Amino acid sequence: TSVVDWTKSDDYHNSFLIAQDEVLDFAVKNAVDRGLPDIAVSPAQGKFLNLVAQSIGAKRILEVGTLGGYSAIWMGRAIQAEDGVLVTLEISETHAKVAKENFTKAGLDNKCKVIVGPAHESMINLHPNEPFDLVFIDADKKSYPQYFAEAKRLVKKGGVIIFDNVVRYGKVSDLSVNDVNTVGIRNLLAALKEDKEVEATTIATVGERGYDGFTYAVRK
Ligand code: SAM
Repeated sequence: TSVVDWTKSDDYHNSFLIAQDEVLDFAVKNAVDRGLPDIAVSPAQGKFLNLVAQSIGAKRILEVGTLGGYSAIWMGRAIQAEDGVLVTLEISETHAKVAKENFTKAGLDNKCKVIVGPAHESMINLHPNEPFDLVFIDADKKSYPQYFAEAKRLVKKGGVIIFDNVVRYGKVSDLSVNDVNTVGIRNLLAALKEDKEVEATTIATVGERGYDGFTYAVRK
């Protein structure tokens, strides 16, 4: 078998499907310049999140794990409703500040709101009048089970919860690997199995971010 360059593969597909975008390029560069880790979703994944949000007509989106706001910009752009909102939760003041700059550049100041603090606490403190249509979970993996519990409370019936980075080069299925993040994903899977109020599936992916995958869940 030959070695495949998965970045090249992503680039090839993106060259047909994803237009050059000054705002997103600025968001990436600004994050790099400010020393943020290079761990945002890929362009293809960002567009996927955008398309999911469009498909379900998302008006209210919750994100757990903002970083520089890259995925938030993709999702925020899908919100058509004037009174729609994307709330994104971030523990790092610096990351939140960079994200806000990127939202301003994107013209999404009125739509994308960052709450700084530990995401679990922030979620517990959320009591919106209207539930969320979509929740994207992409922060510390060890807390995914707690994030799931709160996401379930906050998402509407029929709403979508997406968990990122759940395959981890197959480490999640390798029971000899027991770091807190891997164990967090296993605990999430166990919770999903027991939960009669959600239906979920994991889709493994490969691309410029390597071998990983996401779990897509629907709240019944
Ligand atoms: N969703 C972002 C994107 O694709 O552009 C990437 C998010 S990055 C993978 C994870 C983020 O979660 C980091 O910015 C990190 O500071 C934040 N984070 C880690 N632990 C957290 C916690 N307990 N509460 C809130 N945010 C946390």
